Amino acid sequence: MSKEPKIVIIGAGAAGISAACRLFEGGLRDIVILEAKDRIGGRIFTTDFADNVVDLGAQWVHGEVDNIVHDLAKEHKLLESSYNLNDTNRHVFVDATGQLLSQTESSKIWALYYTISNAEEEELTQHEGSHGDFFIRRFHDYCTKNRFTSSKRASEILEWMGKFDNSIQCSDTWFDVSSRGLAEYKCCDGDLLLNWKNRGFKTVLSLLMHEYPNDSNAIPIMEKIRFCTEVKTIDYRNPENIIITTNVGEDYHADNAILFAGEATHSHYYSTVHGAVMTGFREADRLVEYYGSYSWKGDDSSNESEETPGKQ
Ligand SMILES: Cc1cc2nc3c(=O)[nH]c(=O)nc-3n(C[C@H](O)[C@H](O)[C@H](O)COP(=O)(O)OP(=O)(O)OC[C@H]3O[C@@H](n4cnc5c(N)ncnc54)[C@H](O)[C@@H]3O)c2cc1C
Repeated sequence: MSKEPKIVIIGAGAAGISAACRLFEGGLRDIVILEAKDRIGGRIFTTDFADNVVDLGAQWVHGEVDNIVHDLAKEHKLLESSYNLNDTNRHVFVDATGQLLSQTESSKIWALYYTISNAEEEELTQHEGSHGDFFIRRFHDYCTKNRFTSSKRASEILEWMGKFDNSIQCSDTWFDVSSRGLAEYKCCDGDLLLNWKNRGFKTVLSLLMHEYPNDSNAIPIMEKIRFCTEVKTIDYRNPENIIITTNVGEDYHADNAILFAGEATHSHYYSTVHGAVMTGFREADRLVEYYGSYSWKGDDSSNESEETPGKQ
């Protein structure tokens, strides 16, 4: 009788957890997951904030067709649309001094951001450099042709666009993102901005592990995880005895090793959630929402006004 293979999964992000669940459901039990951090989720990182949550990593379910995350959540009606975020007329900008920009100017800024971001695929593919280079060049071209604001304001807007873009591309700087790569990103059809109501993206992990809606049939994946265990080397020379060495000097022997350490594994942060954390965008959004009644300088409490309170 052949013995059950020993399987080592590296990384307890969505891919690692999902693989472990599938193996478990297939009857395999001799599994260990080695995770560098002290938590599961990797780039899914939902944290509590007041009576709600903030997602520091994955936040939206992008699309409904051929999207496994959507399929998992749909059954339990866990998602709702954030369509109003796409309405550029519902957002106003605040400058570093706390001055509100008018609705008209704010809408123009959004429109400009989307015009540059939604550049034709051909244009993106032909650009050899980074997304940052591409965007800045297009931004300056636009400013030269349409003097829509002062040069000081233009550089503030460009700085904001860079930060906003990092929060979307999950990059530390937009010079790390390839312009051509963006053209290769394929969207699923359907609503691209579905949120998890007040639960956060980590719910997908509970769905995978069958902990939601009730945990009586939960797959005991958590007990298979070794936290704070970073894989340092993998010796594949003998496929029947793969040796995985960790930071704590332990060796794990496996018949099969599955590497799901994330496509952008970082030598210090392990997973790239820090990009979003460092921009501070997610926290800022939640703070503004939470302290919604705070009166900004120049806010006459009627944002519908076409006046420009922050005009300089
Ligand atoms: C800021 C941000 C926003 C995002 N927004 C969305 C979104 O809105 N919608 C969406 O669908 N997707 C979004 N994504 C992408 C999504 O989060 C990732 O595609 C997905 O979570 C990747 O899962 P993974 O398991 O492949 O990798 P990861 O989540 O990166 O998991 C890898 C795991 O391996 C661990 N690890 C790495 N190296 C080692 C090692 N040497 N030893 C042991 N463990 C190791 C890491 O700590 C981590 O836990 C976003 C990502 C980020 C960063």
